[in-house]
Amino acid sequence: MFASLLKSTSFATSSFSPRRRHHHHKKQALRIRHLSAAANDDDDDDFPNDNNEFDYDVVSVPRNPGIKSGKWNQNDVEIVKTAQKDANEKASGTSSLLAPSNDLTLLGLTENELKVFAERNGTQKFRGKQIKDFIYKHRVKSIMEMTQLPKDLRESWDGLGVTIGRNEVYAKKSAPDGTTKLLMKLDDNRIVETVGIPSNEYGKSRLTCCVSSQVGCPMRCEFCATGKGGFYRNLTAREIVDQVMAIEEEFGGRRVSNVVFMGMGEPMLNVPNVVKATELLNKEIGIGMRHISISTVGVFGALEKLASYEMQCVLAVSLHAPNQKIREEIIPSARAYSFDDILNDCVAYFNATGRRVTFEYTLLAGVNDQKEHAKELAQVLFKKNLASHVNLIPYNPVDDSDFKRPTKQAIDQFRRILEENNVPTSVRQTRGLEAAAACGQLRNMYQKEALVA
Ligand code: SAH
Repeated sequence: MFASLLKSTSFATSSFSPRRRHHHHKKQALRIRHLSAAANDDDDDDFPNDNNEFDYDVVSVPRNPGIKSGKWNQNDVEIVKTAQKDANEKASGTSSLLAPSNDLTLLGLTENELKVFAERNGTQKFRGKQIKDFIYKHRVKSIMEMTQLPKDLRESWDGLGVTIGRNEVYAKKSAPDGTTKLLMKLDDNRIVETVGIPSNEYGKSRLTCCVSSQVGCPMRCEFCATGKGGFYRNLTAREIVDQVMAIEEEFGGRRVSNVVFMGMGEPMLNVPNVVKATELLNKEIGIGMRHISISTVGVFGALEKLASYEMQCVLAVSLHAPNQKIREEIIPSARAYSFDDILNDCVAYFNATGRRVTFEYTLLAGVNDQKEHAKELAQVLFKKNLASHVNLIPYNPVDDSDFKRPTKQAIDQFRRILEENNVPTSVRQTRGLEAAAACGQLRNMYQKEALVA
């Protein structure tokens, strides 16, 4: 029966090589045991990350021994390749990095995929729509709650270890301004952050959800807390969509209006899962495509790939510098993907999609926040016809990092110069929680264990 279930989801697994299939099958078996761990205590040794990983006190930022400051090197190139390979394998259910498999979870599947699942697992196709509503609308957390389905069917799926696939909130922290950060516990006991940010701008009430796209990140931008811990694995579409659902539930059922891929990770190393999550967020969770922003520091070849999906979401590129020299000092991967190449790819993205690219610029005192930097940035964006919007992010201090936040005067001056040069500019407000813990830091406090690449 289990084997037939595995086969039944082959819409997601059709491109296996025989070796992979074997590997995958083995992991499936592990997963099944994991789900019934209480009944199989003697199997515990099979799960490398099963216990005590969260028993640490608050500590400073972990650093993978293999992750060092300094120039982008062959080791980085290899890790990035691993991440890209993992993204494709994860999207097809064959990931070789330690990670939960998608196959027995229903969240993260589209309506069509749920129909196929229903049809191949003892019931009719139309049940796919019912299941979809139970998952995304009624937010059931277990198979048995899907009361419109025949009881014996639910029992049989439940017995096979099919789950909805919602994750547990491991910890949360709220600031007086309402910003709330959740640490989501994943199936392999890793944790990622997601943040709910309520706001009221120009009389419009918003709830923005900042989602993570990877466990850790291999890009190691000098000023970013996430990069300090190294990369572990990509998130699946399920694990991304789940973050938004968790925020809606945390806010008492209030709907998330905007999603930004600005949590942990580099979304452009995980394109297939990020794209699928974006489509599900749009279609099933009801978030307008133009209210979804994908933020990237730049990964060679990724913008072209993203453009090919023809989504109407917002692309935000983390530029952080007006030229290659400064960019390389703060973003090691800039050596592998030059300033000019990124801007040219942004032009190509606009030509292909008709969507203007926006830029993020983290202001670091004395490094990239001077008058001449603002002028140079305005010039270069104008020259390329890319001067549509710059979002300035005053640096949030991170442990283990010597950068300083610019003064208010420096921030205002930078903004003024861009605006005087006709570049629409905004300054990202520092929210309560960021003052206490910048992106990635809360997770670091809980998960001290250095991540493995
Ligand atoms: N990997 C994606 C998403 C990262 S987080 C990217 O690079 O775009 C979203 C934004 O926050 C990025 O622009 C990132 O550079 C910025 N950021 C990260 N750490 C920061 C910090 N400590 N202070 C200010 N901005 C930071």
